[in-house]
Amino acid sequence: MKIPVNTASHQYDVTIGNEILTTAMESYKDIINKADKLFVLTDENVWNNQGTYFKDHFPYPFEVFVMPAGEECKSFDNFKRAHTFLIEKNGTRKSILFAFGGGAVGDLTGFVAATFMRGIPFIQIPTTILAHDSAVGGKTAINHPQGKNLVGAFYQPEGVVYDIHFLQSLNEREVRSGMAEVVKHAMISDAKWLEKLMACPSLNKMAQDELAFHLKSGIEVKAKIVTEDETEQSVRKYLNFGHTYGHALEAAAGYGELAHGEAVMIGMVYALLLSERYGQINRSFTKSFLQYAYHNGYPFEQVVKYPFETLQPFIVKDKKAEYGELKFVLLSKIGTPFMQPIELAECRNVDSEFRALVM
Ligand code: NAD
Ligand code: ZN
Repeated sequence: MKIPVNTASHQYDVTIGNEILTTAMESYKDIINKADKLFVLTDENVWNNQGTYFKDHFPYPFEVFVMPAGEECKSFDNFKRAHTFLIEKNGTRKSILFAFGGGAVGDLTGFVAATFMRGIPFIQIPTTILAHDSAVGGKTAINHPQGKNLVGAFYQPEGVVYDIHFLQSLNEREVRSGMAEVVKHAMISDAKWLEKLMACPSLNKMAQDELAFHLKSGIEVKAKIVTEDETEQSVRKYLNFGHTYGHALEAAAGYGELAHGEAVMIGMVYALLLSERYGQINRSFTKSFLQYAYHNGYPFEQVVKYPFETLQPFIVKDKKAEYGELKFVLLSKIGTPFMQPIELAECRNVDSEFRALVM
């Protein structure tokens, strides 16, 4: 099935389904036939787990560049190595890149595509649940030693081919991390859908068609938002629901201790508590959502390690603290997000309430 993404700068489709790599790639034959070389950028875990399937099902000849797994592939060093590889393999402005991996490979490859010879086309082939989010919308980036995603560009892919076959080799933690972003998409768009998600006995052990339904729904939300607001001037900010507190936790933990989505799930509970003060979300909903998240293994016990004083500098630094104003994405009710300026003192009060609730 195809979901269109019509951003101001570029229009493309996300194709999603099981075992679709070969057929979906064939619909790109026109641009691929015009290309002089195809380069697949991937990481060692993805290549070890899914390289054989990829080689058997990718219908064109290609060169592969295997990078270190996870955030390491978003380093300046690796960014340079990727460019060197393309230059040494005679890549030109007519070459195409394929990002075969999770959000990290997607972000790095997108930024290499945006910068190699001032920009060449790329196609996303995501392999994680989280990447149903990161592969759509054209945010590309690498990390600076002083912070994550500080160097990057808005650069849209030619398309996204999401073969959910690849998700089979994800470990439980990666599934949990990715599902948090699916839940986020439901929270900011559709109460009925969120009910459905919360009725699943386990986010980790969904049947394949059920998982495909939720991923497709998540992509539709993301596609609609980035279509309306490609460069995060308005509604795209809603995608940061749960992220202000989540990013602070993730940064305080030193990246890696908490997976991104684990931190976001914790941040969403915090944002619900804050939302109670400004809209119709009530404590009984927040508590039932917290139970649901606990039950699905999100590591709330980690919060104790990071007191508010540790989180505070990261909350203040968060990029949504625009023009000195700290703004949170809150919900007036499920499905209806809005931006709310919040004083640091209130942040601290809600942090105390939050700790009392989760411990
Ligand atoms: P990731 O790419 O680091 O993948 C997580 C781990 O799973 C890695 O070790 C990877 O090697 C492994 N892996 C990936 N696919 C696999 C598979 N099919 N089988 C087995 N192992 C596999 O992380 P992620 O969670 O996909 O994405 C996180 C990254 O995405 C972060 O760098 C974050 O900044 C970025 N991100 C970007 C956007 C965006 O809009 N561009 C949005 C959200 C997150
Ligand atoms: Zn996120």
